[in-house]
Amino acid sequence: MSISHGTLNPRDLIPTFLEAVPMRLGILRGDAFFKGDKEFKRLLLEYEEHSSQPDWFMSEECSNYFAELMKLMQDVAPHRHIFASYPGDSSDFGWWPSYIFCDNIDAHRTGMNDYHCIACGWSSEQVKQYQGD
Ligand SMILES: [Zn+2]
Repeated sequence: MSISHGTLNPRDLIPTFLEAVPMRLGILRGDAFFKGDKEFKRLLLEYEEHSSQPDWFMSEECSNYFAELMKLMQDVAPHRHIFASYPGDSSDFGWWPSYIFCDNIDAHRTGMNDYHCIACGWSSEQVKQYQGD
């Protein structure tokens, strides 16, 4: 699922990422062990505090903030998904199924229906279903 495409500028990426978080929080809130709400509020407040300061986006503080936001995006990712830029297109950020990044790719190519990858957790059947959606 693509969240942001065509820019690597933190001024574009940060608000776009922040906008995508509530949908995932809504889905995850039922999990008693989930603690993303607090971190999201903290990052949202920090962004609102700095968003009108152009210099902030070029600061080290902003780099650190971006790393924390990337971590939150991973924390709220769907099961067996990775928040990253799409392989081969560094400006296409989104939640991608982890089999796309799997090093065990030869094993995936065998196409056996009952194959279950120990590296990424995706079975051949699940990959087929995902691609069929
Ligand atoms: Zn795999």
